[in-house]
Amino acid sequence: MQIEQPFSESGRPLPRRTPTSAPFLDGARNGKLRLQRCPRDGFFFYPRPRCPECLGDDWTWEDASGRGRVYSYTVDRVGLDPTQRDRLPLVVAIIELEEGPRMTSNVVGCAVEDVRVGMSVEATFEDLGSETLVLFSPTA
Ligand SMILES: [Zn+2]
Repeated sequence: MQIEQPFSESGRPLPRRTPTSAPFLDGARNGKLRLQRCPRDGFFFYPRPRCPECLGDDWTWEDASGRGRVYSYTVDRVGLDPTQRDRLPLVVAIIELEEGPRMTSNVVGCAVEDVRVGMSVEATFEDLGSETLVLFSPTA
C-alpha cells in the first residue's frame, strides 16, 4: 500500500491528517497544543489510537500548557532534506513538555547559537495553508 505524503504549496511536508491526528491538528490550527491523556498513565504524545503504557483507548484530548524545555537539539546546516533548505540553519529539537511527554519540533524565534539544553520554550504555530505546525520559541 502506498501512503501519499501531503505537501504545502511551498513544498514543505505536512503532517498526515487521520481520524486520530485530526484533533491535534485542529488544536494547532486554533493556536492550542493538545495532548492525549490516559486516566491511568497521564499525558502522552503523539497522536495514537491507544495509550502507549496500558494500551487503553479511554484517553481524552486536553489542552496542554504549551510550555516546555529543550531536552536535546541539533542544528541542521546542510539541508539534506531539500524541502528544508530555505530554512537553514534549522534547530531540530526534542522538547520536554511541562506535562511530561517529549516531542520533536523546531526551535524558532532566536539565533541558533542561543539555543541551549534546558532553556524554557513555549509553543508557537506556523500556518502552512492546509495544516498548522507546532513549533517552539524561547519563553518571553
Ligand atoms: Zn494508559
